[in-house]
Amino acid sequence: MSSPVLRFAPSPTGLLHVGNARTALYNALLARRAGGTFILRYDDTDVARSTAGFADAIARDLDWLGLVPDRVEHQSRRLPRYDAAVERLKAAGSLYPAYETEEELEAQRLSRRRRGLPPVYDRGALALTAADRERLETEGRRPHWRFRLHGGVVRWDDGVRGPQAVETSALSDPVLVRGDGSYLYTLTSVVDDIEMGVTQVVRGEDHVTNTAVQIAIFEALGAAPPAFAHHNLLTLPSGEGLSKRLGHLSLQALREEGHEALAVAALAVLTGTSLAVEAVPGLDALAERIDLRRISRAPARFDPEDLSALTAATLHGLDFAAVAARLADLGVGGGAPFWLAVRGNLARLADAARWWRVVEGPVEPTLAPGDADFLARAADLLPPEPWDGEVYAGWLAALKPVAGRSGRALFHPLRLALTGVESGPELKALLPLIGRERAAARLQGRAA
Ligand code: GLU
Repeated sequence: MSSPVLRFAPSPTGLLHVGNARTALYNALLARRAGGTFILRYDDTDVARSTAGFADAIARDLDWLGLVPDRVEHQSRRLPRYDAAVERLKAAGSLYPAYETEEELEAQRLSRRRRGLPPVYDRGALALTAADRERLETEGRRPHWRFRLHGGVVRWDDGVRGPQAVETSALSDPVLVRGDGSYLYTLTSVVDDIEMGVTQVVRGEDHVTNTAVQIAIFEALGAAPPAFAHHNLLTLPSGEGLSKRLGHLSLQALREEGHEALAVAALAVLTGTSLAVEAVPGLDALAERIDLRRISRAPARFDPEDLSALTAATLHGLDFAAVAARLADLGVGGGAPFWLAVRGNLARLADAARWWRVVEGPVEPTLAPGDADFLARAADLLPPEPWDGEVYAGWLAALKPVAGRSGRALFHPLRLALTGVESGPELKALLPLIGRERAAARLQGRAA
């Protein structure tokens, strides 16, 4: 089998939310796992609502998630391809002109409902003669073009939902070309999937009906449809659906709140499946877990509260290499030893800067009056440098017999003096980073 080709096809009409991220991740990670191709395709034929700003924001969000498209396409730059497909469908009699206005269609739906009929388009336009059409066009009406559904059952084996059968007689013939000549995504998407060799489409279950229609269009264009899989949708904790337009749970907002991209990715992929929702060490590990058959059928709540815990758990397991560049941006030094010392204490990556200030100083030490002698003694006993990871144990071994203290009475004053705060990363790891000069000064009650 040739290598798989998947795509993420957002319309640049708003900021991506976690539900969109779920779709993007499934497609990108399935391609990645199989060594296939991942296409980012902007569905931007709706010029009134698409903006370059939103397209840039989508690129930034995917980049943040770590998803690198192998190919980027814009539908707005492919109009001649759609023109050609439309001509073929017209020639085959699969596309017919219709002239009803929105108001007329609405009246038609109402009247059908009243008569107990499904509110689908009655195909009145199919009865128009050439003379009727000429008259309507002389009146100034511009036709929109509908795809003539065959009226039979469309079947596919859905990657998530199993065997599907949609009765197309219960659907309206879809409009593929608007009155102003612009194309609907229903058509452009099929043309692109054919021409780009897309082998698998994973998208939200709100597209199930579209899939039936689109499979019919694939067939009318003489192409085999890709494999389809429809995942359940994510909702707000209240159960309300996510809206791009309303800016719900946008990736941009989650990023600005300091959440880890990998945590967002894990939650977006694993929520609403029978897999455990837990931190993962990287995207490859997340890709390994994906199993479309384990996606639930019901909508799943995405709780941003869970994200804080997952962000922390993700940070606690990240290697230095995964964060080195971002730590440098935060002005944090200390390399891998510092990272390994503090990562377990971070709720957000930016917290690392706080611990770096504890290492670098100046730290205003906190000394209880009753501890000053003990701490001065401790300062005297600090071993000479160079220090390594064992310095703390050696120092304590020397200090304990002379301190006449143990447990909290021993450790707590040391921590307060050395770090200025009540709790934090292990002193064993921090002390070599703080160094002898600063440690001695702090133990003696001087800011350093
Ligand atoms: N632009 C469509 C959407 O964002 C694409 C659907 C598809 O993947 O085919 O819902």
